[in-house]
Amino acid sequence: MSKYHCVICGNLIKPTDSDFFVGENVVFAVVKETTKSTKISTKTGRIEWVKEGYAGVRSGKKIFTRAFNKLHPADAPSPLTYILGKLCECEVPNHG
Ligand SMILES: [Zn+2]
Repeated sequence: MSKYHCVICGNLIKPTDSDFFVGENVVFAVVKETTKSTKISTKTGRIEWVKEGYAGVRSGKKIFTRAFNKLHPADAPSPLTYILGKLCECEVPNHG
């Protein structure tokens, strides 16, 4: 069981702000705009710093600044899983 699954109901637990800390690996989107098109790709990086709801994420040689709500923990189920799956509604989620 990962910490993103409730041990009581077995359903998914959404990542919260406390899941984003220095050293955590996260997935985020990078938008490249050219005059002709907009390309969105996803990157995986490691959080270098956090400040007031934002994180600096290192991917390769670059550091990307992203709000927590634009980040997804790399070890959590994919965002699509959250859309399709059942979310934990326990009053006090209990994860392993
Ligand atoms: Zn639950």
